[in-house]
Amino acid sequence: MPLIDLEQMTAGFPQIPHPRPPHYKKQMKTNLRILTVAIALCVGLFTATAANKDDHQHLATPKGGRLLDKTKPHAEFVVEKDRTVTINFYNENLKPVAATTQRVTVQANAPSGKAKLDFEKQGDALVSKTKLPEGDGYTLVVQFKQTADAKPMNLRFKLDLSTCGECKRAEYACTCDH
Ligand SMILES: [Zn+2]
Ligand SMILES: [Zn+2]
Repeated sequence: MPLIDLEQMTAGFPQIPHPRPPHYKKQMKTNLRILTVAIALCVGLFTATAANKDDHQHLATPKGGRLLDKTKPHAEFVVEKDRTVTINFYNENLKPVAATTQRVTVQANAPSGKAKLDFEKQGDALVSKTKLPEGDGYTLVVQFKQTADAKPMNLRFKLDLSTCGECKRAEYACTCDH
């Protein structure tokens, strides 16, 4: 967000004949400077608040999946109808981009036992070679690495395939604040 340049806005002042004593103008300039700083602080606070909000809220990704936090490009975790998992990638404007060096594995802590899903590149996406175990409501741990050598990031959430009454997405990908 561009700041309003108050200094520039008042640059024309000296040309206008000014009936007031010079110290008044100096005082006003100081006030404007304080105002500029105040606006800058407000903008800073506003930006910080917006950024924090984005961190906690889940963006509505195009294919109905869950945005994996702190991935760049954005990674979207989608449970397909056949229970395979697809990871799609998007740029900041949520336009699709191809998977590059990312590595993903998913651990499913299913009632029938733990299962590990490995992924392979298919087209622009990463697709699991096996399916999620039967059931719903169990914990998933997505291990995400930006490159093969990068520090892994573990993203833990509940598999909940029921539909959210508000956003109509699957609950695991719900974008509401509840
Ligand atoms: Zn919901
Ligand atoms: Zn929702």
